[in-house]
Amino acid sequence: MSGKLYLCATPIGNLEDITFRVVRTLKEVNLIAAEDTRHSIKLLNHFGIKTPMTSYHEHNKIDKAIYLVEKLKEGQDIALITDAGTPGISDPGEVLVKEALKAGIEVTSLPGPCAAITALTISGLSTRRFSFEAFLPSDKKERAKVLDELRNDTRTLILYEAPHRLGKTLKELYEVLGDRRITLVKELTKVHESILQVTIKEAISMVEEKVPKGEYVLIVEGKNPQEIEEEKRERWESFSLEEHMSYYQGKGLNKKEAMKAVAKDRGISKREIYHLLIQEGLQEKE
Ligand code: SAM
Repeated sequence: MSGKLYLCATPIGNLEDITFRVVRTLKEVNLIAAEDTRHSIKLLNHFGIKTPMTSYHEHNKIDKAIYLVEKLKEGQDIALITDAGTPGISDPGEVLVKEALKAGIEVTSLPGPCAAITALTISGLSTRRFSFEAFLPSDKKERAKVLDELRNDTRTLILYEAPHRLGKTLKELYEVLGDRRITLVKELTKVHESILQVTIKEAISMVEEKVPKGEYVLIVEGKNPQEIEEEKRERWESFSLEEHMSYYQGKGLNKKEAMKAVAKDRGISKREIYHLLIQEGLQEKE
């Protein structure tokens, strides 16, 4: 019989945040796959866990996943832990989970700390709808593409960032998103945990004044839907009515449907569009 893969969430700072179930599971499994064994040994020693460990990280994630799946197939139970938080969130856990599921191995997740969710809940920004982008891509082109996709997103945005890149990222966010509200959440669950509710511009000044240190999660307010509507209206107002109608008719809409779409874009009634079209000689009276 195959073994089982347990994703075990571990503390993101405060050791008391580990669950009883995670401690018991880490003691009971045959093997623990850890992102950094030298880092995780401290956690295991603290809780008296003597289970053997093996490394599973970014640089061996593919070959090691195959090896670990073989062990699981042989019947060994394996726990996956990362340096901090929930395995699979912004770490190589995803690869192992995919391989295990592909091999028909049972996978279960033991919930616990996750920096993104913990930061969101205390950000003071909307928690109803959010997007988690983890770290922005380091490749310039990819980064620009992702930022552009986020430009008009009305959901709260969650980002991870290293302190030495915080200033650069804040400046890019300001250029693309404008001066939105942002909450900088630092050192969650640790002695120096802090929450800073500012605007992106204010955050830039603060980072310039004092070099940031510690682990950060950035929570950025989503775009105001009203602003999107206004921008749309401004864009369409630069079109003549004829150009605006042609735009929709070119997309395959019939005249009535195009009138409806144009009226919606311009925030006026279909009847008003009908009269304007008559005035401009683009429509016969019916
Ligand atoms: N798997 C982890 C989780 O569930 O949150 C995230 C791993 S990711 C490689 C590490 C990033 O998470 C850090 O750079 C930081 O942005 C964020 N992070 C982790 N611990 C944190 C803490 N105690 N306070 C603030 N941010 C933290």
